[in-house]
Amino acid sequence: MKIFNTLNRRKEEFVPLEPGKVRMYVCGPTVYNLIHIGNARPMIVFDTVRRYMEHKGYEVNYVSNFTDVDDKIIKQAIAEGVDSSVISERYIAECKKDMAALNVRPATTHPLATQEICGMLDMIGTLIEKGHAYVAADGTVYFRTRSFRDYGKLSHKNIDDLRGGNRALLVSGEDQKEDPLDFVLWKPKKDGEPYWDSDYCKGRPGWHIECSVMSKKYLGDQIDIHAGGEDLVFPHHENEIAQSEAANGKEFARYWMHNAFLNIDNKKMSKSLGNFFTVRDISEKYDLQVLRFFMLSAHYRSPLNFSADLMESAKSGLDRIVTAAENLKFLLQTATGDEIADAEQTLAEEAKSYIAQFDTAMDDDFNTADAIAAIFDLVKWANTNLNAGSSKALVETVFTELKELADICGLIIDKKAEMLDADIEQLIADRQQARKDKNFARADEIRDELLSKGIVLEDTREGVKWKRA
Ligand code: AMP
Ligand code: ZN
Repeated sequence: MKIFNTLNRRKEEFVPLEPGKVRMYVCGPTVYNLIHIGNARPMIVFDTVRRYMEHKGYEVNYVSNFTDVDDKIIKQAIAEGVDSSVISERYIAECKKDMAALNVRPATTHPLATQEICGMLDMIGTLIEKGHAYVAADGTVYFRTRSFRDYGKLSHKNIDDLRGGNRALLVSGEDQKEDPLDFVLWKPKKDGEPYWDSDYCKGRPGWHIECSVMSKKYLGDQIDIHAGGEDLVFPHHENEIAQSEAANGKEFARYWMHNAFLNIDNKKMSKSLGNFFTVRDISEKYDLQVLRFFMLSAHYRSPLNFSADLMESAKSGLDRIVTAAENLKFLLQTATGDEIADAEQTLAEEAKSYIAQFDTAMDDDFNTADAIAAIFDLVKWANTNLNAGSSKALVETVFTELKELADICGLIIDKKAEMLDADIEQLIADRQQARKDKNFARADEIRDELLSKGIVLEDTREGVKWKRA
């Protein structure tokens, strides 16, 4: 399996740190609003990477954070006159609903920045001790960027070009920095902001430190894959590398993966430009499976332009697969023969070849566009070669294969068979509400209802987790 590694700018054979296991960290959203479909791209892409890794037999520990303390959250809280936790909790719940509707599986752990402040202060302490960070007069702690010799290795930037060139880096407090390149690890609170006590000042963390800390806590000092959108390469991921490697003295992540942007009219879709659709907007017009299919119809490193035409063609593409699956189910109702007939052996071999075609595409840096082409080829083959005379065993084999390949892409083609993630998330949200309302009978009833459908709930510090029993 080859992965394009941003660090070395080439495709490299994937070798995990520990055989059979993958430790993967994906930077998650800042929760101050409903997520837009640009934010959904990394969610869908890396969920598909995770599913494919599992299909290959790896056990994947998948961590993705929610940034729940940030300027934008605070601004929204002030606008609504509520505590910033009200905003972040609301949009985490909404984001989880969108993820479920997109069939993005919950991460193994979804840590929250506000729950990991102790760990952040520990790492900041280590960085100061090792001479990689310093405290300014007002209590701001800065990372001493030049003290980390490899700075720039991910974004392939030369540190000396940054000094004059990148004014965007020179954030407030410039006058008290030893060097304009230094970035904030901890900063003093302003009036009305959430804050925590520390040895330096009452304050809150800079943005980059949370990912270094959560990744270390839930996955260890070294991880296999670190991922996110390409806008995160610099400065966010470059700064994460500096913090983690300076503090831990080890290479942080072996493979860095970045998805290209989802554009609209060839411009990046973003909240600040105001040219976005939320996932919720799209759900009013389409089944979100169509959005997922649309995202995977391009390679994740290619920019993708959102348009009504492309969504329509994604819809008809997905329909073709779903219809083929329904036809196979129809054949199964009347087919007989528990074993593949001798005369069908060649057909059975042909059917299997599409798995190999699919895997070859995915092994080549997760080329989902070609993998979906393999699914289409299988559909065409099934439409041509299977009919009322086929044995039940052969039809069943092909149906299972089609379902498996679709499932690796997170596409549900047999809806009636299982309870959808979106429905589960909705019931969990209802249960949380019932608990808030102190309606414990209703809360228990929902838990039992889910259990009866094979869904097990676990209450954890990061919220409710669920799994299929
Ligand atoms: P944010 O909440 O802005 O930190 O974004 C969360 C994730 O969405 C990050 O991995 C971003 O890189 C990614 N992202 C934001 N906008 C887009 C876009 N238009 N296309 C693809 N990825 C995006
Ligand atoms: Zn991050």
